Amino acid sequence: IFLPHLVASLEVEQTYIMVKPDGVQRGLVGEIISRFEKKGFKLTGLKLFQCPKELAEEHYKDLQSKPFFPKLIQYITSGPVVCMAWEGVGAVASARKLIGATNPLQAEPGTIRGDLAVQTGRNVVHGSDSPENGKREIGLWFKEGEICDWIPVQEPWLRE
Ligand code: GDP
Ligand code: MG
Repeated sequence: IFLPHLVASLEVEQTYIMVKPDGVQRGLVGEIISRFEKKGFKLTGLKLFQCPKELAEEHYKDLQSKPFFPKLIQYITSGPVVCMAWEGVGAVASARKLIGATNPLQAEPGTIRGDLAVQTGRNVVHGSDSPENGKREIGLWFKEGEICDWIPVQEPWLRE
């Protein structure tokens, strides 16, 4: 029997997660990395990075026409960010759940934004919104050779 919904949910996905400059300044890097690590995703890329304006504009190009776009670019380039690539089955949607709603006041307690932030313009973390964007964003933020393929020893203890 072919069960397309099951097949889709078993897809290994890559997602681009980024601690934004406020998260770095507020000392939340370890806390944020820890949430994805504990969940059971695989870290495949990690670096501290000062983002140039052009890259911020490319990353957020879909929001170009929004009134807050200039402020968003200023925010993302205002200090170093922590760039991460995470891999796992259903990782994109699951990471978005761990992150919580865009507006931290509407984000559920238990989520990163729900627990650690109060304003949309300072919402501490980014997560890709689709598997396609996950790949696109990892390609934008990481150079060749910066992504590691490895097998975590916990693998058989995460999945039957
Ligand atoms: P996300 O996918 O949950 O991060 O949200 P979006 O893709 O809609 O927006 C990208 C980022 O732009 C958000 O995380 C915020 O940092 C910022 N942003 C979105 N909407 C607003 C807004 O209304 N005002 C301001 N200042 N920033 C916003
Ligand atoms: Mg988004």
